Amino acid sequence: MPEGDTIYRAARALEKAIGGKVVTGFETGLAKLARVNDDAPLVGRIVERVESRGKWCLIYFSGDLILATHMLMSGSWHLYRVGERWRMGRDKMRVVIRTAEWEAVGFSVPVAEFFTARSLERSSQIARLGLDILSESFTVESGVARLGAHARENPDAEIGVVLLNQHVFAGLGNVYKSEVAFAAGVNPFRALRTITQREMEVMVDVAQRYMKANVTDGKGEGIVTYASGRTTRHAMDREERLWVYRRQGEECRRCGAVVMMRKQGVQVRSTYWCPECQPWVGMGDVPVGDRTRIQQRKIS
Ligand SMILES: [Zn+2]
Repeated sequence: MPEGDTIYRAARALEKAIGGKVVTGFETGLAKLARVNDDAPLVGRIVERVESRGKWCLIYFSGDLILATHMLMSGSWHLYRVGERWRMGRDKMRVVIRTAEWEAVGFSVPVAEFFTARSLERSSQIARLGLDILSESFTVESGVARLGAHARENPDAEIGVVLLNQHVFAGLGNVYKSEVAFAAGVNPFRALRTITQREMEVMVDVAQRYMKANVTDGKGEGIVTYASGRTTRHAMDREERLWVYRRQGEECRRCGAVVMMRKQGVQVRSTYWCPECQPWVGMGDVPVGDRTRIQQRKIS
């Protein structure tokens, strides 16, 4: 699933290309969007701005119309010069926003909806998002306060589940969940009641730094993709990039112990951790995970 930093990067690239420009064409394969466009056409409106909110990408048009898209596992936004050949099949096109110079094409976008400013505020999914780690107003103090408030109401919640909860922090995904817990030396199965203030500070600080480090401008070719890798170790080699994510059965890069994996939470998301660097704290049995190495996929 794309994480918040990729959405943020995509939104920034979209804003750079089509922000402030007049819409000269709009196409969609989604009936719900087509109906709105029939009643209140997009052509002639100005793209006022593009922003990310958690994993949502919001495109604001003049005349109080906002297109909200969520990519889930499969979707992506591409940018092309008008007339340039698309790199994905037309059958996967869901939305095209055309300006004089650029075409923004949403491929395989599973969730897309139009809002007005008012209906967006009322939307339970988007309005109730937690703190956006990439927003300019986000600080470590505000993040720790949010985590602390959640801990008071949910003392037994496991930190690995809480880090993914979009009502707490918007934008953090499954890769960073494991990486952030590792960086803070926190076992991801620990209950919130056992997490210290200092550990919260480290996790929030690391989450913000990881996500910011992965935010760069859109690539030179003008293509925005959600499939690009992300790095937490700042190494170039793709296999060398992450501390624990998808490294079960392999040696911890810090201490040499064997990295474990266990499915966590009602969403049964894979969680990776080092049992030495992230010791167990709390009541009950020490959580044990799978140490079977993941079959190495060929890197093409
Ligand atoms: Zn270790």
